[in-house]
Parts: sequence; structure tokens; C-alpha cells
Amino acid sequence: MTTQDSGPPDVFPAENRTLLLKNADVVVTMDKERREIRNGSVYIEGNTIVSVGTEADVPQTADRVIDLEGHIVIPGLINTHHHMFQTLTRAVPNAQDGELFKWLTTLYPIWKHLTPEMMGVATKTAMIELMLSGCTTSSDHQYIYPNGIKLDDSIEAAREMGMRFHACRGSMSVGVSKGGLPPDSIVEDEDVILADTRRVIETYHDSSRGAMTRIVVAPCSPFSVTEKLMRDSAALAREYGVSLHTHLAENDSDIEYSLKNFNKTPAKYVEDLGWVGHDVWHAHCVKLDDYGMKLFARTNTGVSHCPSSNMRLGSGIAPIRRMLDSGIHVGLGVDGSASNDSSDMIGEARQALLLQRVGFGPEALTARQALEIATLGGAKTLNRDDIGALAPGMMADIAVFRLNTISMAGANHDPVAALVFCNPGNVVYNIINGRVVVDNSKITTVNETSVIEQQNAFSYQLATLSNMTAVPY
Ligand SMILES: [Zn+2]
Repeated sequence: MTTQDSGPPDVFPAENRTLLLKNADVVVTMDKERREIRNGSVYIEGNTIVSVGTEADVPQTADRVIDLEGHIVIPGLINTHHHMFQTLTRAVPNAQDGELFKWLTTLYPIWKHLTPEMMGVATKTAMIELMLSGCTTSSDHQYIYPNGIKLDDSIEAAREMGMRFHACRGSMSVGVSKGGLPPDSIVEDEDVILADTRRVIETYHDSSRGAMTRIVVAPCSPFSVTEKLMRDSAALAREYGVSLHTHLAENDSDIEYSLKNFNKTPAKYVEDLGWVGHDVWHAHCVKLDDYGMKLFARTNTGVSHCPSSNMRLGSGIAPIRRMLDSGIHVGLGVDGSASNDSSDMIGEARQALLLQRVGFGPEALTARQALEIATLGGAKTLNRDDIGALAPGMMADIAVFRLNTISMAGANHDPVAALVFCNPGNVVYNIINGRVVVDNSKITTVNETSVIEQQNAFSYQLATLSNMTAVPY
């Protein structure tokens, strides 16, 4: 089976430019009825989906037509937690086997050498990997700003890549001398943090439907900023109507720190600070207690589940089944590349399914539920209703995987489940905001080979600056 394709490759979607995806073996809509349409089509005008259905429901001509016989079409995956700069420090020898706090204190001295150029290339590296794995929207929790780095570096890279982006203005203000975890050399003054956060919101935040760039206020974690900064951040976010994000209840040391320093559980701490609501999502919550579970459900507070990272750092198994049963909004995150060390979103859905089963039995999470967390769940977590499903009026964010591959062979009876149970490999097409950013398996917006070369050069430079044992290739 071949993919028939008509029309020129997309440069950028003109407002009225039309794109038809037709003849797909199955289109997974994640719409209200959770329809899975056999022999499905999706018709797109500009950046918006106009119709989804069988051949009879959808116009059969367009400026560009892609025949998808032998393929599965899903809503673009939504990554709710990442630290893209960490792609420069994957598999660092001394950080391969430690738990969260040991892992962090090994990496901080390396990260202090990061530069704006490194940040741009690392962001592109993460985004190429994400896009090839079906991701169309990503957040990035950027909390380290040495050597003139600004959040603008990440936003510029995202714009070049064509990725829908929630840029989290992270921060750290409590260094070792004040009882925190990071070295003093990489923490910022709280007034500077708040002023810069205000600046990036005013410069970049787009609150409109279909926004490609949103800013999020995101102190790194309760153990790296003061209670005052947490409160001031919440007030700032609400002043502008932007979301809030941080790490919470990640492992036992994190709980210990909270009890020792605040005399409160993480859930009680964030409740008292105003860090709950539909505009807040917390990463991990592996150790969220019953009180926190009820609190998050009642307030529509979101959780970003990062199963690979939780396994990599031995943090534990987040109670996702119970969270879903309680009505908590759960999204999926790959987390930073120093604790995953991969940005494979469809692979992460598989990890979520497997890890819940290790903890809570084989019925804890189905393949379709894992896929729903990775799409609709992510949209709710990011406080959006314009992405995460394929339906008229939704933004045209779509991932297409080939079914007739060796790793999927033998699973034709249920290609939707196979996407999570098997290893589907990279997408053939990835469409973001109507733009084809992966076309016939190739990234169209940047030169992938050149990004890899720059990334490896920067990574080696970082290793050398940090006196880390490194082998040049
Ligand atoms: Zn993280």
C-alpha cells in the first residue's frame, strides 16, 4: 500500500487553504461519543477542522489530498510536562542511578554553563523528537536562566519548529545557603523573576482560541522557591488569566521536605497558597494523599503524569486510576530528558498503561484510556477546549501512524489498542495548526541533521566545561 499524495508540500497554511486526509483505516476522534471511524476522512480549512467522518460526510477534494490507506489518524498528542534544556544532559554518568535530590544536585553544576544558543538547539531537539512521536502541543517548564538565557530563546525555537507551545516561566530562588537544593549561583532574585514573568506574559501570551503560544507562571518546586514567591506567582497568574504549574509530591524526600519546612503535606501547602483550580496543574503527584485527591477533584486541579521519569528515578507509582475515578484531570508528560531520557509521547502512553498495571492490576488502565490521557486529558490539564479531539471547529492538530509496519503486524483487528500496546514507531504525518510539520516521515520546518550536529557539539561542550567524562564522536 502506498500513500498517494497530491498538491505541493505545505509551506504554511494560508487562511483558506484546504487539506483532506482520506481513506484512513481508522480515525480516532476523541469526540463526545469517542467515535472511531473506519475508512475515515478529516477535512481541514486553514488551521481548523471542518468535518470528520466517512467519505459521504466529508468533501472529497481539497488543495492537498493525502490518501491514508494503511494508516491510523489520532488527535495530536499533548505533552504536559518537559524540561527541554535537559536534552543536552541525557544519560549523564553520575546522574544515571540516583533518586530525585541526588540526581538534581549532580546536574545543577552542569546546567549552570547553559547558554541562550544551547537553549534554542535543545528546544528544537526535544520538539523534533516530540513531533515525530505524534505530539502537537507541548509545555516546557524552563526554570534555569544562567548566562543571559531568557524564555524568549525557547519561544523563538518553538515558533521556528511550528509547535503549539505552553512556555512555563519557571524559577528557583532558594539556594543552598538558604536551605534550598540548588546552588546559589543558579537561583534568581524574586523581584527579577516576577518582573520577567510579567514581561513574557505581556509580550507573548495569547489567550485567544487556537493560540500557538501561551505563557504559564511556574516556580520550579516548593523546595526551590519561597512561600512568598508561590503566593505572588498565583496572584500574578490570576491578574493576567494565565495558568500555574509546578512539581508536587514527587517522591518521599519531597514529602519529607514539605513536612519539615512547611509543617504541611504538599496538598495542604498548595491549598493554602491558592495553587488549586482549573488554571493549575501539578507534575507527578506520585505521593498525593487522600486529602489531596479530593481537593484536586473538587477544584478541577490538573495532574501531569510522567511514568517514565517516575520509574527512572524510582519515585513510585502515581495513583492515576484513583485520580481518574475521582474525576481529576490527568494529562501525560514525558518530563525532562535527564530523567526519561526520551521525548517519545506515544511511547509514554504505553508506559502509563504498563506502570498502572504494575501498581494496581491489569484492569487499571486500558489502551484507549491511556490514549485519552495523552490527548483530551492533556487539553483539559492545560485548560484548553480547542485541542485534544478531532471534531468540527477544533484546531487541526493531527498525528498519523502507519499500520502496515513490522511492529504492528498481526494487530489489524484492533489498530487503536495496538497503537499503545505495540511500538508504532515515528509518525508519517504530523499536522499542527493545519501545517504539515512532519511530511512523509520528514520534519519540514528545520534541518534535523543540522540540529543533531549542533546538539551533540553543545552537549560535549557542557560535559567538558563541567569536567565530566565525555567521549567525543
Ligand atoms: Zn519535571
